[in-house]
Amino acid sequence: MLKGMMMDRQLSIPAVMDYAADVHPDRRIVSSTVEGGLHDQSYAQARDRIGQLAHALVAMGVRPGDRVATLAWNGYRHFELYYAVAGIGAVCHTINPRLFPDQIAWIIQHAADSVLCFDLTFLPLVSALRPRMPEGIRLVALTDAAHRPDLPDVAVYEDLLAGQPTRYDWPDLPEDTAAALCYTSGTTGAPKGALYSHRSSLMHAFSVVLGAPGSFGAGQRILPVVPLFHVNAWGLPYSAPLAATDLVFPGPRLDGASLWDLMQGQGVTAGWGVPTVWAGLIDEMRKRGAAPDRLHTLLIGGSAVAPAMIRALEVEFGIEVLHGWGMTELSPVGTVSRPVPGQDAEARIAARIPQGKRLFGVDLKIVAEDGAPLPKDGQAAGELLVRGPQVIAGYYNDPAATAKAFDEDGWFRTGDVARITPEGDLVIVDRTKDLIKSGGEWISSIDLENAAVSHPAVAMAAAIAVPHPKWDERPLLAVVLRAGAVVSEAEILAHMAQTMAKWQLPDEVAFVDAIPMTATGKMSKKDLRVQLKDHYATPRG
Ligand code: AMP
Repeated sequence: MLKGMMMDRQLSIPAVMDYAADVHPDRRIVSSTVEGGLHDQSYAQARDRIGQLAHALVAMGVRPGDRVATLAWNGYRHFELYYAVAGIGAVCHTINPRLFPDQIAWIIQHAADSVLCFDLTFLPLVSALRPRMPEGIRLVALTDAAHRPDLPDVAVYEDLLAGQPTRYDWPDLPEDTAAALCYTSGTTGAPKGALYSHRSSLMHAFSVVLGAPGSFGAGQRILPVVPLFHVNAWGLPYSAPLAATDLVFPGPRLDGASLWDLMQGQGVTAGWGVPTVWAGLIDEMRKRGAAPDRLHTLLIGGSAVAPAMIRALEVEFGIEVLHGWGMTELSPVGTVSRPVPGQDAEARIAARIPQGKRLFGVDLKIVAEDGAPLPKDGQAAGELLVRGPQVIAGYYNDPAATAKAFDEDGWFRTGDVARITPEGDLVIVDRTKDLIKSGGEWISSIDLENAAVSHPAVAMAAAIAVPHPKWDERPLLAVVLRAGAVVSEAEILAHMAQTMAKWQLPDEVAFVDAIPMTATGKMSKKDLRVQLKDHYATPRG
């Protein structure tokens, strides 16, 4: 093999901000703050503060490889931590504050965090968990002296930065140095840690810009509702500075009205987040009779996007929907819709129902139960496996989970069941554990939910399997109606029968006030099974 004769320069996260500050120093990072009001700084200012933060962390005694945890909303200080922590060779460990306190305590112990940085919102949580944290952990409140919390031994972020030099001489780290850590939400078993490197984070960031180019570039202002505290806000903290794009961080206020106001006030052009958040925004747009003026794209993923939501956004409001699929273990984006210019409305909607095409660097395959590869013909469905430079090679300090996560060729098992069309579109059928097995045939809970929410009276729907003596399992559908709507079970079933076979229709529709949600904004089928356990006793059909 003839070796290329190129410089051996390593991919590095702090180089992203140095680049942004050199090439487009005046692009903005706007944040809706926990303390109230908007904060607005340029990339050049952010780079200076990141340098100061790096000095402050080293002065605190943070060493390469240490885990620096965060419990924080989407905002500029959280963003700065992403860069400064990774830049000094330490690991930015984002923690999802929506997890149960027990899980958070477990994660902090498992990661052996040495510093925890938190927004004031989470002061009660941090106080309660403090006795269960690793000995010697240092606490940093992400605020200024005026808002110093009333808790002993807590450093204040702005005090730490004050007076520090703005330039930090970043060490030349090998690009496979760990940079960030994020635990899965542990809906099945203990949370598992994905430990990203500088290289994987940048490969992912490049691929995201290439896969969703319409959200990026000069003049574009992107609002990540997807959190910095989970799945790296889909890579936006790295992609946006690379691609000259303004960031608008929503802080703690994620309801439809707050998002509408922030998008309108800041001229946001694209929003990225999970379907439930956009359902709130759609309600608000209907109430006000308009979308925010400059908003042209919503990238939606994390759960399947119902065709009814795509239709509402595309047809009622002229907003381009991009459907994305991914996982914590993939950094996280795996696939995204690729718009084809010139399609009519129906073709546009149909093209966005699949979860999109793979990003560069993400290889996809589907396999049968025996591991044999299945054709990408849009018909065959099997477990989805992935590989690529932005896919984990193992879980952090978890050999047992790692042993189960890969096939013999080293592909990562996603636990999702999917089809892949000849055109390369990924169609997620279901999570393996959420599929409903009836009389030897599989029913997709996602298909049932999409059929139900296309009824105008239905706000939300979730399908689960109920054990059945004859059919093994039958579907039970939980439905939340829109405020004031009245509709019978028979009407919902008749509506669903327009798109689903009779044997696939649910045996029962349970009308509920709310569907339990997970810490990452997905419908929690596990909790729903508990909530609906009384319906199990007397299967119909
Ligand atoms: P997380 O690691 O929290 O990002 O969760 C990853 C899981 O969310 C995937 O394995 C899928 O089951 C689910 N998921 C993510 N995006 C989608 C989507 N667009 N459609 C259906 N399921 C999705």
